Amino acid sequence: MSIEITLLGTGSPIPDPHRAGPATLVRAGDQVFLTDCGRGVLQRLAAAGAAASGLTALLLTHLHSDHIADLGDVLITRWVTTFDPDPPALPILGPPGTAAVVEATLRAFGPDIGYRIAHHADLTAPPPVTVHEYTDGPVWERGGVRIAVAPTDHRPVAPTIGFRVDHAGSAVVLAGDTVPCPGLDRLAAGADALVHTVIRPDLIGQLPAQRIVDICDYHSSVQQAGATAARAGVDTLVLTHYVPAPAPGCYDQWRALAATEFAGRIECGDDLHRVVVGGPG
Ligand SMILES: [Zn+2]
Ligand SMILES: [Zn+2]
Repeated sequence: MSIEITLLGTGSPIPDPHRAGPATLVRAGDQVFLTDCGRGVLQRLAAAGAAASGLTALLLTHLHSDHIADLGDVLITRWVTTFDPDPPALPILGPPGTAAVVEATLRAFGPDIGYRIAHHADLTAPPPVTVHEYTDGPVWERGGVRIAVAPTDHRPVAPTIGFRVDHAGSAVVLAGDTVPCPGLDRLAAGADALVHTVIRPDLIGQLPAQRIVDICDYHSSVQQAGATAARAGVDTLVLTHYVPAPAPGCYDQWRALAATEFAGRIECGDDLHRVVVGGPG
């Protein structure tokens, strides 16, 4: 039994012609979890053979714009492409503040929601969602999949959480944006794979704009992500949300930096890179 990770979007807030915004798909058994929903997520979801209507739940690590840029698209597209007369609500699991953001997003799309309800006899209510806000502990147990969260450290962005998905003896942890912290160490301990967002302070720190240099404050470097993976004892470290975007052919550099701290398998890749853990790949 395995868990499949697909890097839907490996980009950052900086628009990139080849990288969608932060989003990672996790398939565990017959359940499909979308973690964060950055720019272009539904196009990448389609390329990965999934769809908004097929999501089991949406997991949000934090409320930075690059991680929720296409939340409205996920909610509205799921709504208009679900043909069940009694559509199941989309569970949205995120940190405190998530409910207000979801509510405001639905309000922003209020005219659209009104037009569609007026036009289609079988659409009688706005997109059904249930929002659950968490900072720590077990948050999901259904059909053999367990999910837990723990606080991460992305201050001044707070609160932020990482997710751990356990299924059939395998476990995948999604760190989101964070510096090394005890919450993530605890969450990732003994997991098969750690999906970690990373930054290169050696490159970003040289840029002439302080606002760009500032982003080094609250992200892990590649080496720090490697050290977290080593402390947790995971088998596989998956790097994503590359800042800056690696030039073609440069992933070896990123892997080498992580390998200074972590002796396990290190995965890097473009959008749609897929990693399978806990079973035949
Ligand atoms: Zn962030
Ligand atoms: Zn980010």
